[in-house]
Amino acid sequence: MNVRIKIAVDPVKLNEAMKRFPRDRAMWIDGREVAGEGETIERRSPAHGVVVTRVPRGRANDARRAIASARKAFDAGRWPHETASNRARVLLKVADLIDRDRETLAILDTLESGKPIAQARSEIEGAADIWRYAASLARELSGESYANLGPDRLGLVLREPIGVVSIITPWNFPLLIVSQKLPFALAAGCACVVKPSEMTSASTLHLGLLLAEAGLPEGVCNIVTGYGPEVGAPMTTDPDVDMISFTGSTAVGRAAVAASAATLKKVSMELGGKNPQVIFPDADMDAALDAAAFGAYFNAGECCNAGSRILLHASIADEFLAGLAVRAGEAKVGDPLDPETRVGAIISADHLGKIETHVKSARESGAVVRTGGARLESNGLFMAPTIVENVDPSMAIAREEVFGPVVVALTFETVEEAIALANSTSYGLSASVWSRDVDTAIGVGRGVRAGTVWVNTFMDGTPELPFGGYHQSGVGRELGRNAVKDYTEEKTFHVHTGPRTSWWLPRGA
Ligand code: NAD
Repeated sequence: MNVRIKIAVDPVKLNEAMKRFPRDRAMWIDGREVAGEGETIERRSPAHGVVVTRVPRGRANDARRAIASARKAFDAGRWPHETASNRARVLLKVADLIDRDRETLAILDTLESGKPIAQARSEIEGAADIWRYAASLARELSGESYANLGPDRLGLVLREPIGVVSIITPWNFPLLIVSQKLPFALAAGCACVVKPSEMTSASTLHLGLLLAEAGLPEGVCNIVTGYGPEVGAPMTTDPDVDMISFTGSTAVGRAAVAASAATLKKVSMELGGKNPQVIFPDADMDAALDAAAFGAYFNAGECCNAGSRILLHASIADEFLAGLAVRAGEAKVGDPLDPETRVGAIISADHLGKIETHVKSARESGAVVRTGGARLESNGLFMAPTIVENVDPSMAIAREEVFGPVVVALTFETVEEAIALANSTSYGLSASVWSRDVDTAIGVGRGVRAGTVWVNTFMDGTPELPFGGYHQSGVGRELGRNAVKDYTEEKTFHVHTGPRTSWWLPRGA
């Protein structure tokens, strides 16, 4: 299908945005900017086609130096022993600096990833809020005590920082995702090595400068840039790393877990999703339609939480899909720097090709494209919001993550069928259920095997609530009250007071 909408971008807006930051960025290792061995990775804006940033193509050596710096900062530095109040003060200062540089950070994420500027601004605000939440948890971190073990025994469980943490992040929410990990690791007293995606490194590198400005000691956070196999892989195998906190695809996450097995690191994995939005006939249809479109097309569908499977009660399927098609047509796709834009550019030509191939193979298997289905005419990389119907649950498009503005529609007749359909993929990140009936809403929510269930809403989030996946969507949870604990080890203290009862038989017996 040929979608004949032409997308234009505004060169004046682009020019203004480009003035806000330097093209060339350095890595951040041991409290200094490091250029690497001279090779760089150029990032072009997927919407505008121009080079927006150049970052060093780091190598295994750079990863090694960064890990050594973190190790030294952890083993011999003051950060792991700093008071919670001082750690919290640094984190709060970082939050203030993120607020101060909000516009620059939002522009960097927009130009490197193609996401709409209005959305990027709210992500940066959200990131600052997470740093503040982590600061509050830093001061709450405590262990346990057992005074009920008898008069001569006292049990204490201490929470100590786990050590050196490798943090590896994807391209779809550059500053937000590093902010779901780094402040909690720092709050626990850990030292870190961070590797952002090679496509969206600039806001994370900018964050490195803010950490130094906020007074984080040298070596406590190092940032290396480059390709996964070159700098990411050593971060998963190095014996000096104690934990890996990874967000990305299930395939790379699986490889990272396997690579870390030789040194038995703790892992926290936030991976892919194929999330169902289950809609019953008694739902508030306007709200459900709005949320379904939002879930499918937010961040151009390049979102682990995308509601990429719409499960409709058969009695409302036609009407609902007609309404969704209207919304898909109305969603403002275009220049990410335009504050009215809701769907921006696709991250890369390669990825846009993959999205189109998914749609093409679905068609070849008998699915029908109701709307969209192809790239839009433009010098940039834009894809029309797409609905695919006549889909069988066994088709690849119903099971695999497309990671584009493509939603599939499936139907059910009963609550049991809805739950079975919702659970019919290898993922389990999130799900939503739309019904005004409490039995239906809670019943489906409890039956779905997913880390987050939204009832009559979609993709709401707040740092207070944990986030993560069942099955192949991940291991562990981020955010929530345990977010700092995840970066700690438990140490049991068993204290004896008073005379000891001898293990030997009493002398002379
Ligand atoms: P990706 O897996 O390709 O890359 C993620 C990171 O891993 C990048 O920094 C990459 O350079 C690095 N990497 C690649 N190979 C590596 C290796 N061998 N060893 C170590 N690191 C390596 O993912 P992506 O394409 O950047 O992001 C999209 C994926 O991320 C989607 O599958 C999406 O669902 C997932 N995601 C999940 C969440 C979540 O919280 N569950 C959030 C956002 C994105």
